[in-house]
Amino acid sequence: PRLREPRYRVVLLGDPGVGKTSLVNLFAGVQERDLLDQHGGAAYERRLTVDGEETALLVLDTWESEQRGEESQRRSHCLHVGNAYIIVYSVTDRDSFESASELRIQLRRARQAEDIPIILVGNKTDLVRCREVSEEEGQACAAVFDCKFIETSAALQHNVAELFEGVVRQIRLRQGGR
Ligand code: GDP
Repeated sequence: PRLREPRYRVVLLGDPGVGKTSLVNLFAGVQERDLLDQHGGAAYERRLTVDGEETALLVLDTWESEQRGEESQRRSHCLHVGNAYIIVYSVTDRDSFESASELRIQLRRARQAEDIPIILVGNKTDLVRCREVSEEEGQACAAVFDCKFIETSAALQHNVAELFEGVVRQIRLRQGGR
């Protein structure tokens, strides 16, 4: 069924190659042309039931899809439209972990007075031998930045459902425990 008015918009942020598209593809297969046009990139929507209550999530994977020249505008749009944010890094790529911190700071600047849910995600945990960022470092970073934290593997489909359910719970918590 088509969802005309998705209830919550969730924006994926993170360096190229960390697994944003893989994660959202596992979450939702539906991609709508008008949503793509409206958001200038990839938008996915799905209903999911969390704690017995149904919610519509629109997930935007548009962070790096921008054309040259439009980049800063598109990115500023991304930083303003989300009801929640998923900041992804790869546990096999320390640079992407540093970028995640930078993104958290940008987001805080863009949405100063707002208490927006942010989930920090360390993806690619299946690549055990290539790991450059420990789970403890991820947790510590999330604590400093006042985010939730989860490690995932899109390849093994590990913790992906939990990630999106967690996003819904975080949004609900801030909206008065609906
Ligand atoms: P994006 O640029 O952040 O959207 O990243 P993609 O989803 O396009 O993924 C980049 C590459 O990493 C692709 O080759 C994916 O197959 C791979 N990838 C994504 N998630 C995982 C994961 O959890 N484990 C492994 N081993 N590879 C992954």
